[in-house]
Amino acid sequence: MTRPHTPEVLISEVGPRDGLQSVKATMPTAHKLRWIDALADAGLREIEVASFVPAKLLPQMADAALVVQHALRHSSLRVMALVPNLRGAQAALQAGAQKLTLPVSASPAHSMANVRKTPEAMVQEVQAVLHWRDQHAPGVPVEVGMSTAFGCTLQGHVPEADVLRLAVQLAQVGVDEIGLSDTTGMGNPAQVSRLFQQLFREIGERTGSAHMHNTRGLGLANCLAAYEAGVRTFDSSLGGLGGCPYAPGASGNVVTEDLVFMLEAMGVSTGIDLEKLMAARLPLQDGLPGEPLYGMTPEAGLPKGWRT
Ligand code: ZN
Repeated sequence: MTRPHTPEVLISEVGPRDGLQSVKATMPTAHKLRWIDALADAGLREIEVASFVPAKLLPQMADAALVVQHALRHSSLRVMALVPNLRGAQAALQAGAQKLTLPVSASPAHSMANVRKTPEAMVQEVQAVLHWRDQHAPGVPVEVGMSTAFGCTLQGHVPEADVLRLAVQLAQVGVDEIGLSDTTGMGNPAQVSRLFQQLFREIGERTGSAHMHNTRGLGLANCLAAYEAGVRTFDSSLGGLGGCPYAPGASGNVVTEDLVFMLEAMGVSTGIDLEKLMAARLPLQDGLPGEPLYGMTPEAGLPKGWRT
C-alpha cells in the first residue's frame, strides 16, 4: 500500500521515555520492545524510545541501548532518545539513535532540580553535544524541549521574555528544533498561541514541537492552540502514561489516542491508524500491570463509520 501523501502533522510518541520515566515500576525489556513494535505498526513515525541517563538514577532506562537498537528495525521510524548531557549523547549515538532531544528548563529553579545546572550551563552542554554530533554523526538532528515554558511549580510564573531569549540563544548555537514543554500542566490556550507565535517570529522554522500535559484538562485545547499558531509536531503519550507527581489522579502527557482522534476528526492527517494505536495499549498494560491508563477515545470507542 502506498501512502497518498505525507501526513500534515508529526506525532512524536514519548510514552517509552517520558511515560516510563515517571512511573515507579520498571517495564521488562521484552514488553517495551513489543509495545514499541505495536506503536510503529500503528503508523507512528517518531518515538522517543529511551533516556540515556545513569541506570543508578533511572533503573527503568537501564536497557536504553538495547531498546534503541531494536527500534531501528522499523525503517518507517525515527528513533529518538533523550540525553541530559554530552555523555548521554555519546551513548545514544553509539547505540544508533536517529534524533536527540535535550531538556533545557526556562525556569532556573526547575533546571537546578532537574539537571543540577543553570539554564546557561545547559546551553553550554547543548553546544558540546552539537559539536560532538557535527564530528561523529552529522546527519542526526538535535532538538531541545524547553521545560517549564508555560510555568513552573517551583518558580511559579515564567516570563515569556525568558523563554524567547533562551530559544534565540539555542537557535544561535545551532539547535535544529526548539520546542516548548508545559512540564507541569500550567499553560492555557491563549498563552500557548501567543508564545508559539512569538517563537515563530524569533526562530522561524527551527520552531519544534508542542509538548503539552493534561494535568488540568487543557492538554488538547493547548494542542489545538499550538496547531493554529502553526505548530506541526506534537509530543504525546499512549494512555497518557506517566501521570503527574504534582497532581495525583490527573493524567500527565496528552493522550496520543485522543490527540490523533481530534486531529483526524478535523481532517488533519497524522498517518496513524487509530484502531491499531488503541490496540497498542495492550502490550503497554501487559508490561505495566496495575498502572492506570488514560484516554477518553479508548474509553468511548470510535464513532460508528470512523475511517482514518
Ligand atoms: Zn511530558
